[in-house]
Amino acid sequence: VTPEQAQAGAKAAPETKVAISSRDRVVFPDSGQTKGQLADYYYSIAPLMLAFAADRPISLVRCPQGRAKKCFFQKHDSGGFGDHVRKVPITEKDGSAEDYLYIDDAVGILQCVQMGTIEFHGWGSRASAVEKPDRLIFDLDPDEGLDFRDVKQAATDIRDRLRDIGLTSFAMLSGGKGVHVVAPVLPGHGWDVHKDFARRFSEALALAEPDRFTATMSKAKRKGKIFIDWLRNQRGATAVVPYSARARSGAPVAAPIAWNELSGFDGADAFSIDDADKLLKRARSKSLAGWGFADQKLPDV
Ligand code: ATP
Ligand code: MN
Ligand code: MN
Repeated sequence: VTPEQAQAGAKAAPETKVAISSRDRVVFPDSGQTKGQLADYYYSIAPLMLAFAADRPISLVRCPQGRAKKCFFQKHDSGGFGDHVRKVPITEKDGSAEDYLYIDDAVGILQCVQMGTIEFHGWGSRASAVEKPDRLIFDLDPDEGLDFRDVKQAATDIRDRLRDIGLTSFAMLSGGKGVHVVAPVLPGHGWDVHKDFARRFSEALALAEPDRFTATMSKAKRKGKIFIDWLRNQRGATAVVPYSARARSGAPVAAPIAWNELSGFDGADAFSIDDADKLLKRARSKSLAGWGFADQKLPDV
């Protein structure tokens, strides 16, 4: 997918409708949105989301009874999905092959929604080349109670450090509590190299500013700090896909933003599934043109 195609996606509309049952079922009890409204959101946003979600192994957060009831994180095919929810066998650590899911069109997205999906999470590599990641993600996870201003400062600091080593990066409001800093890279290296790069980058940051950052997952070591979650960069890990809805209060969505807009947001849940038109308009704007795309290699550091 090229940036031009991604922008064109903001104009096109999917061709086929998928039958959605129980359209009136309330999926987000706090804010009232229904399964039908969630499907309509995905129908509108699909061409845009596909630029980032298509052809990657995905995991789904499914909440068949709505987000307030039991939800589950699904990695593998369980049957029952429509035929546009494709399967790709991937070798597990123990050597066995398991079917993972991927989608390549709007119908596939809507068939997932029909099955109670709220969130889409993607691998950092393509289904056609699972062993060669094509993006780095630094998922900033603030300790509870930390001010969002600290998250924003952390994101721009990471952007600057990435720029220092030659990498262009992009910011996304996660729809939850944090910001994701994403650097697309041309596929070339394997997962071990990516993971090692992400770990060393994050540990260096934590070492330089131990009061602000930690690169250790432990909640105890996160007190008052931001965990730079570099573990999104290991084989099998996923991160929420741009424009995915979140199974959280208010039906927020993961939203790409321009760096110069970041300071204006006071939370990571600024956009919701009610904002499809706004998000499409934003995606067509100059400031978001080319978001998520850069021809660059992982630096040799
Ligand atoms: P926030 O900004 O609130 O941290 P987030 O999307 O960055 O939002 P989480 O929802 O906490 O973070 O999830 C972290 C990552 O772990 C997600 O990107 C997701 O792909 C993955 N994940 C979530 N739930 C599971 C699970 N049950 N099993 C495996 N991986 C999961
Ligand atoms: Mn996070
Ligand atoms: Mn995380």
